[in-house]
Amino acid sequence: MFYSRYTPIGEQFAVPAAPTAFKDAELVLFNLSLNTQLGLNWDAATACLYLSGQQPLPNTHSVCLAYSGHQFGQFNPTLGDGRAHLIGSFLTPNGEAIDLQLKGSGATVFSRGGDGLCALGPAVREFVMSRALSSLGVPSTDCLAVLSTGQAVYRQGSLPGAVVARTARSHIRVGSFQYLALQQDEKAMTQLLEMAMKDMGLQLRESREENIFSFFQSVCDAQCDLMLKWLQVGFIHGVMNTDNTLINGETIDYGPCAMMEAFSFNRVFSSIDRQGRYAFGQQPNMASWNCGRLAESLLLLFTEEQPAIERFSGILVNFSERFNEGYQQLWRNKLGLLQTHSDDQALVTELLELMTQHELDYTNTFASLTALKLHKLQEQFPVAAVLKPWLVKWQAMTEQYDDDQVAAMMTRFNPAIIPRNDLVEEVINDYYQQGKSTLLDTWIEALSTPYQYVDYPEKWLKSQSDPNRYQTFCGT
Ligand code: AMP
Ligand code: MG
Repeated sequence: MFYSRYTPIGEQFAVPAAPTAFKDAELVLFNLSLNTQLGLNWDAATACLYLSGQQPLPNTHSVCLAYSGHQFGQFNPTLGDGRAHLIGSFLTPNGEAIDLQLKGSGATVFSRGGDGLCALGPAVREFVMSRALSSLGVPSTDCLAVLSTGQAVYRQGSLPGAVVARTARSHIRVGSFQYLALQQDEKAMTQLLEMAMKDMGLQLRESREENIFSFFQSVCDAQCDLMLKWLQVGFIHGVMNTDNTLINGETIDYGPCAMMEAFSFNRVFSSIDRQGRYAFGQQPNMASWNCGRLAESLLLLFTEEQPAIERFSGILVNFSERFNEGYQQLWRNKLGLLQTHSDDQALVTELLELMTQHELDYTNTFASLTALKLHKLQEQFPVAAVLKPWLVKWQAMTEQYDDDQVAAMMTRFNPAIIPRNDLVEEVINDYYQQGKSTLLDTWIEALSTPYQYVDYPEKWLKSQSDPNRYQTFCGT
């Protein structure tokens, strides 16, 4: 059932390495629905044995993957899994290939002086955020479990250590191609490309060059669509380096991420993102920039570079066009504008300006408009007073449509609840203090259906964190 998916590419790419066996490990969080959905159907004891590194998965060799990466624009040739082990891959009941990776599972040849470990807080953050994002309809890696290792991790002080068991449709990153390009390893890159194309459901054609362009086009489309999803829900990734960019367009690496609460395209939470490179509104540009780095790497596979550069550049122009179209449509969807109208964009621009000026909560603003059209929950989601003059114009634009249809459209695009930053911090604190969280037990259930407009506890709907003070840190 399990297999070593990346081993055929070679040991320079998939380096054999066993995770640390944590003998005192305990399951802290276990995603039972994912366990069933993926067809694993493990009981807790089995999950604990495999995911704590105490027992290898049958029929597999655990590996660490090599990759390079542009980190905040600076190229780093040798990154790789410095604190993660890919313990095996498997096929789900519907035939989809899934990787199972442990994070925080000990030092590797790529640790570069790091300890290879993960503290409980960042592990819990990844569990909550990746589950919430998946439920919001954002393509994402998922989290099967969090385990406590029973060992301390030293950061600013001593913290309980943890392992995250992450599932992903693939772990092929832009940085994976950058690494093989640097090694001038044409054979391995071709293998990786073919594997990636198969995973993405792309037909292999006879012309090798056309395969590469169609692959690149798909990566760009997937990244573009991901950016629109992040925009839809107000997600700020915080560390969109090329090593954290999966070519299949799933969100990966939940280190310094956060949800935008008070609206601003300039919003940044990560303490290390001082220039705002990965600010909320910059994310699409950065995704496109990352795709550019992929194109550069793929040039290894061409004998004549110039025509290839021209084709890649054309595809990158399409990225902007696809994004701009999706961008306009997204706001129409969020505002329930069922048909295109010449005044749409002016209405959107005015709203976004008001939201920025008055630091209005992104989720609640759109939820308040949705609640209006649903004719319910208007006390939980009151429309901000400063929007009243704008509201008259929006009402005039939408009254030509059937309210039910408008509401149906808006509820598909405007979540009622999101994993709010202060609540994520509270859950993390609960785990540090008590090893469990009664808040998470109820909240995670609600987060699994975020587009349902039902009566939520007030605490889940209010932002408590100061948008200009709240900071996140890379989860190392
Ligand atoms: P990230 O910013 O989390 O994407 O990590 C960037 C690189 O640093 C990756 O190669 C990680 O494997 C590595 N890394 C992060 N934290 C640690 C750690 N505690 N020990 C060793 N390597 C780490
Ligand atoms: Mg990373």
